[in-house]
Amino acid sequence: MQVVNTIEALRLARRALLGRVGAVYTMGALHAGHIGLVNAARAENDSVLTTIFINPLQFKANEDFTRYPRDLDRDLAMFEAAGVDLVFTPTPELMYAPDFQTSVRVSRVSRGLEGKARPGHFRGVATVVAKLFNLTQPDITYFGQKDAQQVVVIRQMARDLNFPLEIVVMPTAREENNLAMSSRNAYLSPEQRHAAGIVPHAIKAAALEYEKGERRPIRLIAAVREVLAREPVARVDYVAINNPRDLRPIRKATEAPLLLSLAVQVGTPRLLDNALLPYALNNRADLTRLLGGSE
Ligand code: AMP
Repeated sequence: MQVVNTIEALRLARRALLGRVGAVYTMGALHAGHIGLVNAARAENDSVLTTIFINPLQFKANEDFTRYPRDLDRDLAMFEAAGVDLVFTPTPELMYAPDFQTSVRVSRVSRGLEGKARPGHFRGVATVVAKLFNLTQPDITYFGQKDAQQVVVIRQMARDLNFPLEIVVMPTAREENNLAMSSRNAYLSPEQRHAAGIVPHAIKAAALEYEKGERRPIRLIAAVREVLAREPVARVDYVAINNPRDLRPIRKATEAPLLLSLAVQVGTPRLLDNALLPYALNNRADLTRLLGGSE
C-alpha cells in the first residue's frame, strides 16, 4: 500500500494504478462502515484508492473540526489490512492554498435537512469532493447510506459537472444495538450510547407502520417521534420524509419510495440516521438506484 501526501506524488501513483479504479473518501477514524465500502471496492475493481481528509470547509466555526477524532496510524493499518493500494492523506494547507477562492454549490438538494441545520456544510462537501474526484480520477466510487443527503448532493454535482464515474451506495453499517456507526459515536458516553439505541428503534417503528399500510407522511413521522419521546435525553432536531431522488418533502400519502431521515441530539453529540420505506429497499441495489448512479 502506497501512502502519498502531495499532489505530485498522488498524480504519479494514480497513473500507475492498473485497470478499473474504485475509490472511497473518508475523514478517517475508520470503523466497519468505512471498511465495508473498501471491501466492496476491493471485490469489484483492479485497484482501490482511498483518501483521509478532515475537510475544514464543511465544518462551521462552532463545530467539532478541531476535536474530530484523528488516528492516522490505526486508519492506515486498517486500510492496509483491507487491501487498499493507494491512500491520499493531504493537509488542509495542501487542499486550500491561501488564495483559494472557488467553491461548488449544489442548490436545491442541499437546501433542506442537514443543509438547513448546517448552513454552508454541503458547499464544503461538494467543493472537496469535486477536488478529490479531479485528483483521484476514479471509475467507481462508494458512499454510505448513512449520509444519504450527502450522496444525493454529490450525485447531482457529478451529473451537473460531468464527472465520468459511478456512485454506489452501501447500506448503513450498524452497531450491536443497531445504532448507525459513525466516527462521532466516539463522543458518546456509555449512557448516551445506550440512549442512542432509541434512534434505530424509532425508524423501525415507522417501518412497521408502513408495513401495516400507513402511507401518510405525517403519521409515519408521528410514529418516529412517539418512540423518541420515550428517551428523555434525546432531543429531536428534525424528522422528515422526502422523495429519495430529489429530496423534495413529501406530504401526501404515496406508494412511491420514501426517504425517512432524522437528526437527534443525545447530550452534545448529534446523531443522524435514515431509511428508505418500504424497509426492504435498504439494500445496495435499490439504494444505488435511488440515491446513487452515474452521469
Ligand atoms: P466519513 O469519514 O464520516 O466522512 O465517511 C466516509 C464515507 O463512509 C461516507 O461515504 C459515509 O457515508 C460512509 N459511512 C460513514 N458511516 C457509515 C456507516 N455506518 N455505514 C456505511 N457507510 C458509512
